[in-house]
Amino acid sequence: MKNTKEFNGQQFQFKKKFGQNFLSDTNLLEAITNDAKICEEDNVLEIGPGAGALTKQICLKQPKKVVAVEIDKSLEPILGLTLSGFKNVEVKFGDILKIEPQEIKTWFKGEPFKVVANLPYYISTPIMFMLLENDFNLKSFTVMLQLELAQRLCAKPNTKDYGAITILLEFLGKVSLTRKVPRTLFTPQPNVDSAIVHLQIEKNKFDVSYDEFSKFVKASFSMRRKTLQNNLAKHYDLSKEQIVKALTQCGFNENIRAESLSCSQFVKLFKTIFNN
Ligand code: SAM
Repeated sequence: MKNTKEFNGQQFQFKKKFGQNFLSDTNLLEAITNDAKICEEDNVLEIGPGAGALTKQICLKQPKKVVAVEIDKSLEPILGLTLSGFKNVEVKFGDILKIEPQEIKTWFKGEPFKVVANLPYYISTPIMFMLLENDFNLKSFTVMLQLELAQRLCAKPNTKDYGAITILLEFLGKVSLTRKVPRTLFTPQPNVDSAIVHLQIEKNKFDVSYDEFSKFVKASFSMRRKTLQNNLAKHYDLSKEQIVKALTQCGFNENIRAESLSCSQFVKLFKTIFNN
């Protein structure tokens, strides 16, 4: 199959290695910007503008500033034409995972920003962790993900999809799967369906350090089939007696597995163990 398409009178060859599956359905693109609740005082970071279809819809909401980061320099002329006429947008060419977080912060002069993106699937998870773990002044993110990943992010305890990343997102705010998107709406068509996940950041929701809590949750899930007490004893300088005491104090069974606890139950256990 020939993976080319004409944009603004120019032939473009899609590059699989960059996860290039573009959208063009205006209703869907507008719905994504509505899910992100973009308004005039917002700053928006878009990752992977491609030919600029989503970028254009973001710009039409007239936010204060839009910065779009694209790895593929060959899209420059197409993006230039798609976005001509919009003054509030700046396109930067580079790999989002190689740009210093300090530099990203300067783009919005330290002001809060929203992330809106149809993410390249091959690096969606590293991009999400990069955004969540660098102390950005993030207001929300609204991202297109592979359906399976989206379902993991929004999973309920005691299901196979539930894991450390589910708990960490809930720790940071309110997460929701806003819409499922069939593969037929992408060009070229991928082998999987997609979904939009929206995370509304709630600052200091639990009054606990993200870094310490994140280590704790990742340690708790390190061996999924083991009990929580075994996983914690392996990663922390704590005796099994100390862990069992904390579990009992919290009202949890001593043989519980990590996947049974909700985010707030994890916070309770974390505070009980580390006395904060
Ligand atoms: N936003 C466009 C749309 O919805 O039609 C394109 C989305 S496409 C799924 C992902 C885009 O991310 C591509 O344009 C790809 O070139 C770009 N991309 C891939 N890896 C990247 C990276 N490391 N940094 C920045 N952009 C990247």
